[in-house]
Parts: sequence; C-alpha cells; structure tokens
Amino acid sequence: MSDPHELIVLNPATEEVVATVPAADAGDVDAAVRRAERAQRAWAALAPADRARLLRRFADTVDAHVEELALLEVREAGHTLGNARWEAGNARDLLHYAAGGAERLLGAQIPAPGGWNVTFHEPLGVVGVVAPWNFPMPIAAWGSFPALAAGNAVVLKPAETTPLTALRLAELALESGLPEHLFQVVPGHGGTAGRALVDHPGVAKIVFTGSTRTGREVAERCARLVKPVTLELGGKSPNVVFADADLKSALDPFSFLDNSGQDCCARTRVLVQESVFEEARDFLADALAAVVVGDPADARTQMGPLISAAQRDRVRSYVPDDAPALRGGVPDGPGFWFPPTVLTGERPDSPAAREEIFGPVAVLLPFTDEADAVRLANDTPYGLSGSVWTRDLGRALRVARGVRAGNLSVNSHSSVRYWTPFGGFKQSGLGRELGPEALTAFTETKNVFLSTEGPAQ
Ligand code: NAD
Repeated sequence: MSDPHELIVLNPATEEVVATVPAADAGDVDAAVRRAERAQRAWAALAPADRARLLRRFADTVDAHVEELALLEVREAGHTLGNARWEAGNARDLLHYAAGGAERLLGAQIPAPGGWNVTFHEPLGVVGVVAPWNFPMPIAAWGSFPALAAGNAVVLKPAETTPLTALRLAELALESGLPEHLFQVVPGHGGTAGRALVDHPGVAKIVFTGSTRTGREVAERCARLVKPVTLELGGKSPNVVFADADLKSALDPFSFLDNSGQDCCARTRVLVQESVFEEARDFLADALAAVVVGDPADARTQMGPLISAAQRDRVRSYVPDDAPALRGGVPDGPGFWFPPTVLTGERPDSPAAREEIFGPVAVLLPFTDEADAVRLANDTPYGLSGSVWTRDLGRALRVARGVRAGNLSVNSHSSVRYWTPFGGFKQSGLGRELGPEALTAFTETKNVFLSTEGPAQ
C-alpha cells in the first residue's frame, strides 16, 4: 500500500530510492489552482510578444540544462541516455515553437451586412495537465507549453513514479522569469491530486495522457462540469509489412522496443505478408538476440528496464514461460528487467494480440493481401499509430488511409513531431496535441459583431 502523503521515486535499473517527494492532496491542488487563477489574469494581459519572449527565455534555460534533465530522466524513469537527451531537447524545441504561436493566434474577419464580424481566440484560464510516467518530460511539455503560449496558466500533475523532471522544469520556468504560479506542479497520487484537479471548478480544461481505463473516468468527471478534455490514451499499433518492403528497415525491433516498449505508439502488432513470414521471423530472432539491454546511463545501452515491479508483473502476465516466442537477454541482479520478446503463436484475437501490454513485447501475425492487412490492422479497440511498408506508393496511400488511426507513417516508424498534429482515433483518445493548431486547443473562439450603422441620432 503506497503512502498517501509521499511519493517514493525509485531508480528502475537499481531499485534504489532516488528521492522522496511530499504528495499533494486536494487542499494543495485547490490552493495551486487559486494561485494560478491570479497569475493567469496578469499573463493574459501581457502583449503576445512579451509572453513569447519569456517562453523563449525558458527554452534557453532548458537548453542550458538538457544534460541535467536527461540524467534525472535516466534515474527516475530508466530511460536510455540517448532517449533522455532527446526528450529534454523536445521540451526545449516545443517551447520555441509554442512561443512563435503566441503572436500568431489569428482570428477571422467574416463578411456580415451592416458591420464587421471578427473572431478572437480567448485563453481558457487555468489548464490542468495529468501526465503518465512513460515519457514524463515530453508529455508534460506537450500539454503545458502550448497552453501557456495561448495565455493560460497550467497546473501539472505528473505520474506518481516520475515527478522529478516536471518539478525541475517548473523551477527552470521561474528562473527564466515566467511569473510565479503560472506553471505549477502538484506531484501526487492519481486518486487524490489527479481527481482533485479534474473535479476543480476553477480548472477550465483537462489534458489527460494515460491509460484508456483512467481516461474514461476522467472524461466522465469532466462531462459533469461540461469541461473540455483532451485524451491521449493507449495504443496497439500495427506495423504492416508487405512482401516488397525493405524488410530490414520495416522490422527494426526498436519500432516496438524503444523505451522498453512503454510507448503508446509502439508497433506491437507486427503484420507480415505470408510469402515473407518465415524470413521475417528469422530476421527478428537475430535482431532480438543482438539488442543491448542494461544500465540506461551507459551510452551503449539500447534498452533499459521497465518502470516498476508492478509493470513487469503486468507484462509477464501476457507472456507465459511456455509461450512460443523469440526472446533476447536481460542483465542479472536488481532492476525491473524484461527481455525483448516477439510472440509467434498468438491468434489475432488473443489478449496479447489486441490489448496494450506496454512492455518490450510484440506479436507476429501473417496476412494474405491488402484487404486482409487493413482488416487485421483495424481489429483492435485502439487507433493511435501505425506503419505501412511497401514500395508500391498507391498501395501505401490506400492502406494509410484505410487504417483508422491518428498517426501513420509510410516506410518509416516515426510518430511524433512537435510541429505536426498528434492524437488517436477510437479508444486511443479524443482531440489532438502539437502541430500548427496546438494553441487553439487551449482557447475559446469568441465572435464579435461591430455595427457600422450606429444607433439613430
Ligand atoms: P494511468 O492512467 O495509470 O495514469 C496516468 C496519470 O493519471 C497519472 O498521473 C496518474 O496518477 C493519473 N491518475 C490515475 N488515476 C486518476 C484519476 N482517477 N483521476 C485523475 N488522474 C488519475 O497511466 P500510466 O500507467 O501512468 O501511463 C501509461 C498509459 O499511458 C498507457 O496506456 C499509454 O498508452 C498511455 N499513453 C498515451 C499516450 C498518448 O499520447 N496517446 C502517450 C503516453 C502514454
């Protein structure tokens, strides 16, 4: 049973305590929201160029601390050093991108008889961001920074296991000259601090990233207050590999092993055309055996541990010891390790093939033709991401359009860029983050009609 008053942050590679952080309760969340309401009014009254300048300064401060933030992410989340550096850089780059948006929140001028009609994008007020543990820094940034740029204050609740980078980002914001209480972090438990933020009448919008199960509850609670919500939820993304594809690139095992598979976009449903199925299996067997799993702080390491013992138990429950599978190796000793695994004996409708495992585990399934591939790719409750590999451009586009998911890549495994929209279909979520529209998701559109005819004299 976890202590309701504190969060114990463990290093997942050593199981050692990294830090103990006091846990916010409902009263702390209420106080943070009240302070944020005051800070937001002054922030929204600043000229957009002044908000932009402060956010660019914040970006420069993050840039000066990339290595420190990356090492913190390695220690609290077990991410490999290369990934953690990318994550800190992603937070910095998004700050620059969002800062530019503050001056480009353009309204419309719409023809109307007897006057002018114009629209404004008004900030919402205080935005609540609830983040998961799998990419603590980028996901906190995606929810928070466009909201700040649009003139809002943010109260961020990081995951129980990974509060440290969020807390440090808030300190760096203050050091950069952002107003006090504009960007606050309330580390705490989901059932107390998370719920208090979602239920708070002073919070105008919730951005939730996490499991579909919790996301459903958050949406229900928001509905009671008619509070807008963005949901970034789970995934079970297909990797559709046709026989004419470049198999080596298509079957890159890091398409599902990156971040130890704790990636909502992981391509864990590997669909391979039957004529190259045996070849694909042999390739993956060699590729898994070659993956370097170990100390995430060592720059040569390719895959680190899972976040926690509980997560390892969850992943294990999908992989019985006698399951037909290809497997890589793991280090001995402490740490929440799980071997890179590809299950080869699953049916397309088995739990391992349809549910999000959130570990370094994929299923390998054959398909016959294009129609079969699209049917299998869509045969899960999720729709977040996916890849299509073929040299036939027409087929690539047909399949990319046929898969019901928010982020598709052709002959590539990329998913998330801060300058392109990101989000899910079906039970993978609601709304979009990032991209050119990121700021407008944190505004209400106001329509104003100005009569040019005036009152009768
Ligand atoms: P989770 O749902 O358990 O927790 C996410 C966050 O919600 C945490 O901060 C938690 O404390 C909080 N929370 C828990 N219960 C709550 C409640 N009742 N009210 C308010 N907040 C509450 O998810 P997790 O295990 O931390 O993260 C893993 C999940 O996140 C996976 O399913 C993954 O696919 C998903 N994810 C999605 C995306 C995306 O962009 N679609 C990105 C990353 C992770």
